[in-house]
Amino acid sequence: MSEIVLPGDAVGVVEEYLGEGLVYEHNGVLRAAAVGFVHRDASKHLLKVVRSGRTPSVPTKGDVVYGVVSDAKPKMVVVDIVSMDKKVFQPPFTALLPISMISTERVESADSLYTESDIVIAKVESTSSPFILSTKGSEFGVILARCRNCGSMLESDTKILICPNCGAKDRRKLSSNYILKRHGGVSKSGESFGNNRKDS
Ligand SMILES: [Zn+2]
Repeated sequence: MSEIVLPGDAVGVVEEYLGEGLVYEHNGVLRAAAVGFVHRDASKHLLKVVRSGRTPSVPTKGDVVYGVVSDAKPKMVVVDIVSMDKKVFQPPFTALLPISMISTERVESADSLYTESDIVIAKVESTSSPFILSTKGSEFGVILARCRNCGSMLESDTKILICPNCGAKDRRKLSSNYILKRHGGVSKSGESFGNNRKDS
């Protein structure tokens, strides 16, 4: 069973292995130069990283992914990428959404538009560790958010979110596919969850 590695992952040390294929050495440590599989032959002290015909289950640039916000700071948001298409990533990939990648409009602070536990749809901009995401574009952003006061699921009313429980109003960088609409509507995007890959 060979293990999947991401670019930059340490795969061995030069004392132990001679690296072949998609491997580079830095300070005595062998690291993967691309997403691929590691094969180690301990008897020959050979280590190889190869791309496989089987695509590793790793998001790549341009992919549309779903994630959960694990932390929101003024300059960036940390997102756990949990799924893509029908694939679920367990454990999730940790990704960063820098303030400059949130919107085509000017953003004062990232944590005013995202908060912990928001569910987001985003595009992968870079996979060289760490993953960088973008939510520029109307289809990208938050698709489900909880009230900061009481924890209820918020409903979207055009550009704002309203808590059906406590009446609080809040803002997010909303996706046009936000799932819960005010007055009981449910966006049809709930059904196409995972199928709207776009490279725009
Ligand atoms: Zn509330």
